[in-house]
Amino acid sequence: MTIVQQARQCALLIVLALVANTAQAIEIVFDYRFDRHGWFSTESEAGLMRRDVLQQAASVFSGLTDRLSAIQPGAGDSWSVSLQHPSWNSWIESATVTDLYVPENSLVVFVGASSFRGSVLGAAGAGSIYAEGSQAFIDTVAGRGQAGALVTSADELATDYGPWGGSIWFNSQFSWYAGLDESGLTAGQPDLFTTATHEIAHLLGFGTSAAWNALLMSTETGWVFTGENAMALYGGPVPMDALGAHWAYGVQGSINGEQVDNLMDPGTQFGHREYFSDLDYAALADIGWQVSAVPEPSTFWMLLLGLVGVFARWHRKQSRSIAKK
Ligand SMILES: [Zn+2]
Repeated sequence: MTIVQQARQCALLIVLALVANTAQAIEIVFDYRFDRHGWFSTESEAGLMRRDVLQQAASVFSGLTDRLSAIQPGAGDSWSVSLQHPSWNSWIESATVTDLYVPENSLVVFVGASSFRGSVLGAAGAGSIYAEGSQAFIDTVAGRGQAGALVTSADELATDYGPWGGSIWFNSQFSWYAGLDESGLTAGQPDLFTTATHEIAHLLGFGTSAAWNALLMSTETGWVFTGENAMALYGGPVPMDALGAHWAYGVQGSINGEQVDNLMDPGTQFGHREYFSDLDYAALADIGWQVSAVPEPSTFWMLLLGLVGVFARWHRKQSRSIAKK
């Protein structure tokens, strides 16, 4: 190879790097102010590891490239949100945040944990929002500049979702596995990456948004999801759980051509890591997210999972314990 050829290759690499940067990915900004039990404390190795795993889970959604407007309170524009406290002592305990600044293309997610004697691993919600000020500000709080998220009349259906963020609670009574690499996961442990990914997807509107509800249909056998992308993959309306918030158990998606249980079904088996399937991504696209590629197995998944370093093993499940997520 000549010097000239080398130089051209080098230039090409630089151009590719720039192109990759122009598509803004959605960023999940975790906020630990309500972590009253120190589950994510930077003073402990366990806390730091859990933070790393949250970042890893957030990276699953780095292929979403919507432009979300910043929520910038001030000059008569004010908003507040009342959330389920992410480290609640009682199930109904709330936390209120007033005039939170939410950066462009970002979601702010408050996280915490507390111990609860039940099988639930985690929960997520966007809280109730109150906003006042200019109409433009109120619309930004409600839809982040995603026009299809704003419904202005009773006969209109939402076609998009532009959330500010939300809160995620983890049940600290379990002995969680908080490692980046699934090889350390042992039977009897719930996997923090799996549950965190699942809960973030709920905050992105999976099972929780008006755009989602607009695609649910009630049938004799229960709820089905009728989003175009999801139906194209499944071959028709997709059966849902009793609440219409998850795929029904037994509905499978695929990853890299291999049939798998969907991450967005209602439960997860201990000792097992689950990943977002093509069907899980398709549903996000159906509620208005710009999924830069509803994954082409060989490229998109290589990119995502390559980062995480977990490409190979979709092993059979060992544990019988199932907890809700
Ligand atoms: Zn769920």
